[in-house]
Amino acid sequence: MGAVVSLAILGVILGLVLGFADKFLKVEVDERVATISSLLPQFNCGACGYPGCNGLAEAIVDQTGKVSDCKPIKPEGKETIYQYIEEAVGPNGEKIDLNKVK
Ligand code: SF4
Repeated sequence: MGAVVSLAILGVILGLVLGFADKFLKVEVDERVATISSLLPQFNCGACGYPGCNGLAEAIVDQTGKVSDCKPIKPEGKETIYQYIEEAVGPNGEKIDLNKVK
């Protein structure tokens, strides 16, 4: 009986810890990274200087990288990404300055 009570108390404590962690340690996910990454060629060749297409997508969202850093992307692929960037809004309502990432 003592073991059941101990496990119940442990379960409640762990539940509270997980609830606290979920509320206060939550990391905002910027869906724009995944979308832009999926619009890049997916060669993961590193020719852009970033660790794969996802790395360049993160840099584009941070506005430290440019779509033109991707060497094998076709012009129509660039245009698709530009159109997405013009419409996409980040988790805090911010937009990417297209002129900085072209
Ligand atoms: S150069 Fe283009 S295809 Fe190659 S890893 Fe960078 S984003 Fe991906």
